Amino acid sequence: MAPRTHWLFGDQLGPHFLDPRHGGPDAHSPVLMIESRSVLRRRRFHRAKAHLVLSAMRHRADELGDRVHYVRAQTYAEGLAEAGAGVGGHRLTVCHPTSRAALDFVTARDEVDVLAARGFLLPRAEFGVWAREHKGDRLRMEGFYRWVRRRHELLMDGDEPAGGTWNLDHDNREPPPRGRPTLEAPAPYSPAEDEIDDEVRHDLDRWERDGEVSFVGRDGPRRFPVTRREALAALRRFVSHRLGDFGRYEDAMLAADPVMSHSLLSVPLNLGLLDPAECVERAERAWRAGEAPLNSVEGFVRQIAGWREYVWQLYWHFGEDYRNRNALRHTAPLPDWFLDLDADAVTANCLSTTLAQVRDTGWTHHIPRLMVLGSRALQDGWNPAAVTDWFHRCFVDGYDWVMLPNVVGMSQYADGGRMTTKPYTSGGAYINKMSDLCAPCAYRPTDRTGERACPYTAGYWAFLHRHRTALSANHRMARAVKGLDRLKDLDQLLDESAQRGGRAP
Ligand code: FAD
Ligand code: SF4
Repeated sequence: MAPRTHWLFGDQLGPHFLDPRHGGPDAHSPVLMIESRSVLRRRRFHRAKAHLVLSAMRHRADELGDRVHYVRAQTYAEGLAEAGAGVGGHRLTVCHPTSRAALDFVTARDEVDVLAARGFLLPRAEFGVWAREHKGDRLRMEGFYRWVRRRHELLMDGDEPAGGTWNLDHDNREPPPRGRPTLEAPAPYSPAEDEIDDEVRHDLDRWERDGEVSFVGRDGPRRFPVTRREALAALRRFVSHRLGDFGRYEDAMLAADPVMSHSLLSVPLNLGLLDPAECVERAERAWRAGEAPLNSVEGFVRQIAGWREYVWQLYWHFGEDYRNRNALRHTAPLPDWFLDLDADAVTANCLSTTLAQVRDTGWTHHIPRLMVLGSRALQDGWNPAAVTDWFHRCFVDGYDWVMLPNVVGMSQYADGGRMTTKPYTSGGAYINKMSDLCAPCAYRPTDRTGERACPYTAGYWAFLHRHRTALSANHRMARAVKGLDRLKDLDQLLDESAQRGGRAP
């Protein structure tokens, strides 16, 4: 019998998606890839993101040579028809896709057999067992992360966590070094573009000119890996040269050094070019060889084996209606300056700097995402589904599975606390402590009212006031809410916030 064709989605590009072991596709099976134009037409993506995905798919097709049938079609259904799927008993296999819409699509096709998911540490069923064991409790990342560490024997010495402690967060929350504009860390891996990138740019230009698609952001020189070779080079460079300082300044921000010691590996991980297991295993090896300190290695393992894995599992666990959760009843539309990444329209230095990073690269690290962009949306009461859509479109590593828990749950508290114990938002004091962004700002982090009132400080109190009843029932917020009673200028603060409306702060 001829081997079944294996269909690769655009985020299933590493060798592990074609590995026949452990229930994978047939060895030497022909491969189908479908470049669907309608995906780009439906939404206004960051152009650098469209570039990365198309470049990565076309590079993979180039590597697979005659083995692959690469179809350019308007939709997946059209692509399958063109490939003759289902005709004359032509059956396909596909690894479990990463979005619910894609999973529904493939499971509804009689001619497609869906194989187990790859690119994550745990099968979905195993997470189900863990979640059932914790039924009645709120699911929390920390417990899950420890369970994964035990299960995968990651950073473990026998039954004990390496170094005698599970959590080194207290070593990993330092403010940036004062008086230094950059961390002076060795530069991250930087890929060289080739003729496939030129072809992608040419196509994107043409489609834009023809009015077929519209993008946001700048498609500057490509910064992220699109092939397995590039992804491995990026991982090697990070572990050998940059992992050492990863932990200490993980939450800090520097205007002139957006990347600091972050790994920049979310793109190759989410394109499926790297397997999370190889990333954490390499980091652990570096620690055991005395090449990186435990706080950095534990911090990195926590991000991948903890957060990334947890978010993937929660996406499926929470179900489809999670995307429409709006516990705080926030309905304001996103303002145009935000939608257009118009950093120049913004006076607040933290927000303008972060928006410019997103405009120019489609990437910022987790704290600007959470405490600058997400916090602005939360304080101003923007609709969480629209905020999720914005993050998905504008970030080079954004996919449905990773966006929903991170934005609906973590950043917008729209799930009423299923994912986090409290809303993540703060006044300017936090941003001032953790960055060098406030000193040159036209606003002052300490000012709640008046001409130099910091929009984050004023916004924080206005947010607490608006949700006073709901938040005072939350034991982690009750004290902050009580603080409202001590504010003598609350009425003025609320008046000024209302006057600002959707204007860029
Ligand atoms: P590092 O700081 O070097 O971390 C290492 C790796 O850990 C990352 O590459 C990533 O794979 C993983 N990781 C860490 N935290 C998370 C998390 N919360 N969810 C998933 N993976 C995580 N990450 C995405 O991959 N795609 C997104 O679209 C995305 N959207 C986010 C939106 C918001 C509002 C927030 C708060 C976080 C979001 N994250 C997202 C998580 C995190 O910000 C990025 O993974 C990280 O900034 C990517 O840069 P890095 O590779 O240098 O990460
Ligand atoms: Fe941002 Fe406020 Fe600091 Fe300005 S003063 S950078 S608006 S936190």
